[in-house]
Amino acid sequence: MTSSSLNDLIDLFSKLPSLGPRSARRAVLYLLKRKILIPKLVNSLEEVQANTKFCSICANLDIIDPCTICRNEKRKKDKICVVEDISDLWAIEKSNAFNGQYHILGGVLSAIDGIGPEELNIISLFDRIKNGLVKEIILATNATVEGQITAQYIADHCDDSKILITRLAQGMPMGSELEILDYNTLSTAFKSRSKLDTSL
Ligand SMILES: [Zn+2]
Repeated sequence: MTSSSLNDLIDLFSKLPSLGPRSARRAVLYLLKRKILIPKLVNSLEEVQANTKFCSICANLDIIDPCTICRNEKRKKDKICVVEDISDLWAIEKSNAFNGQYHILGGVLSAIDGIGPEELNIISLFDRIKNGLVKEIILATNATVEGQITAQYIADHCDDSKILITRLAQGMPMGSELEILDYNTLSTAFKSRSKLDTSL
């Protein structure tokens, strides 16, 4: 291995979320000292790449489409929890706070980053609720400015007045991201969700 290929690997790792150059160097060094892990990692990555797909209903990742959650007959069909990312869905599922459906936006509205409603899975959410079966939309975007703007946008543009639109409220400190909350806080946030006022 040339030092250039080593640097390329470190550079690749440093592009992963939460890994800066220093953590990337440590991760690569860890793998080089435990080379037995490398083929396992490669196999696992290839398997995940080959077998996972996005759910055509909720945009979750799974090995089947529709995903396991959308197919599960035991889950409530009349509640949709709207989250920014799949990692938020994972956090909520681990907390056991919710037993309904999900809808993954794939991000948040951001004027600075040029992300408008068309860049997110918002239209597909509105299409989903046209069947009249959905009674509640729970907006579980992060408690950040963008998360709140996105939640308000969805609430304001949901033109079915019979649907209750709620937002995770208490227990979500301002600026907090859903996936870092502990499960008790997340569970409390679900139980204490409140109706979101809309401009319509
Ligand atoms: Zn799904």
